[in-house]
Amino acid sequence: MLMKYDYLIVGAGLFGATFAYLARKRGKRCLVIDKRSHAGGNIYCENVEGINVHKYGAHIFHTSDKEVWDFVNSIVPFNRYTNCPVAQAPDGKLHNLPFNMNTFYQMWGVKTPAEAQAKLDEQRRDAVERMKEEGITEPRNLEEQALTLIGCDIYEQLIKGYTEKQWGRKCTELPAFIIRRLPVRMTFDNNYFNDSYQGIPIGGYNRLIDGLLDGVEVKLDTDFFADRARWESIADKIVFTGKIDEFYGYRFGKLEYRTVRFETETLDEPNHQGNAVVNYTAADVPYTRIIEHKHFETFGAAVYDNPHTVISREYSTEWTDGMEPFYPVNDERNQAVYEQYRTLASLESSVIFGGRLAEYKYYDMAPIIAQALNHFK
Ligand code: FAD
Repeated sequence: MLMKYDYLIVGAGLFGATFAYLARKRGKRCLVIDKRSHAGGNIYCENVEGINVHKYGAHIFHTSDKEVWDFVNSIVPFNRYTNCPVAQAPDGKLHNLPFNMNTFYQMWGVKTPAEAQAKLDEQRRDAVERMKEEGITEPRNLEEQALTLIGCDIYEQLIKGYTEKQWGRKCTELPAFIIRRLPVRMTFDNNYFNDSYQGIPIGGYNRLIDGLLDGVEVKLDTDFFADRARWESIADKIVFTGKIDEFYGYRFGKLEYRTVRFETETLDEPNHQGNAVVNYTAADVPYTRIIEHKHFETFGAAVYDNPHTVISREYSTEWTDGMEPFYPVNDERNQAVYEQYRTLASLESSVIFGGRLAEYKYYDMAPIIAQALNHFK
C-alpha cells in the first residue's frame, strides 16, 4: 500500500520542526501533528503588548557549533542578545553572574585578580578546615561540596537559597555530584555562556518555527494517542518527539520531571528591572527568577519605545500529571525505567525517537538542531 506520507512527525517543537524542514528539502512528504494549539513546543512565544513573551520559560540560543548557528540564521537572522544575569542576594545587594571579577568586587571589594584569588583561597581553606574539625574529610552532600569549591560567602549569598528552591530540598540533602565544578572567571566578564555564538531570533522564536514549517502540512490540537491506529497507518515512518513512557503505555512506570510555574504580569512601566534575567537567591523569596521579556529583543534607548513591559516570576515546582514536563529527573530510579523503554525503542524499525521527551534527557536548543541535522547526514 502506498502511504500518504513518508513521515508522520508527532510534535511541532524544535526537533519536529527541524526534522520536517530537512525532510521536505529532500522531497519527503511530511505531516506534523501537535496536541497543543500552537507550533513551536517550548520555544513558542505569545505576543503581549508588542512584546514576545517566552510562554514556557526564557530561551536563549547559544552554541559553538558553527553549522548549527549558520543553519538557524539561514532561517531567521539572530540578534546580539548576550545573557548577563544578575542575582539579588540575601545581603540585599545585586551581584553579577557567572562568578567573575565583578561578583568578587561586589562581594569583597577586591579589585585585582590576585586579590580575588587570595580571597577565594582563604574562603576555601576556611571551609575545609571547619569541616576537618567536624571530622569530615570528603564532601558528603551538595552543601559541603560547594563550600570546598567556593567558600562560605558565595555559597551563602548566591548558591544555597537558589539551589534549595530549584530542587525543593535542602542542600545538605542533595548529593555532592550535582555540583562537580564551580567555574570562576578572573576577568570582568558577565557573559553567562562560554559559547562562540548566542542570540535571539529577530522578531522572536515563532519566526524560527514558522520558517522551519513553511510549506509543511501541520495539524494542531491533534493528540497522537487520541487516534493512534490512524496515525500509525498514514506514513512509512513516525518521528515521535512526545514522552517515551506514554508511547509504551507506561508499562514500566511513569518517568518523573520537575517543572516551573510562571506568574506573568503586564506592567504600565517601560523598564522594570533593566535586565532580562534577575535571579533571587534568598530562601525567603519564593520565586527563583524574574524574567523581563522585552530585554531579549530591545536594547538601549529602544526599551522606552514601548510604555509597557511584561515580567514572569518563576517558581520551581514538583511535577504532577497535567503539568508541563520540563526537566527530567535523571536519578537512578528514573534512569532504570527509561533504559527499559529505550531497549524497546531500539527494536522499532519504523519509529524514530527524537527530542527531549522521547530521549528523557535535558537538551538545549542547539543540540536538538544538531541531532536533526545529523539524522540527515
Ligand atoms: P518540545 O519543545 O517539548 O516539543 C515537543 C512537542 O511535542 C510539543 O509541542 C508537544 O505538545 C508535542 N507532543 C507531545 N506529545 C504529543 C502527542 N501525544 N501528540 C501530539 N503532540 C505531542 N534551551 C536553550 O538552548 N536555551 C535556553 O535558555 C533554554 N531554556 C529552557 C527553559 C526551560 C524552562 C525549558 C523547559 C527548556 C529550556 N531549553 C533551553 C531547552 C529547549 O526548550 C529544548 O531544547 C527544546 O524545546 C526541545 O525541543 P523538542 O522538540 O525536543 O521538545
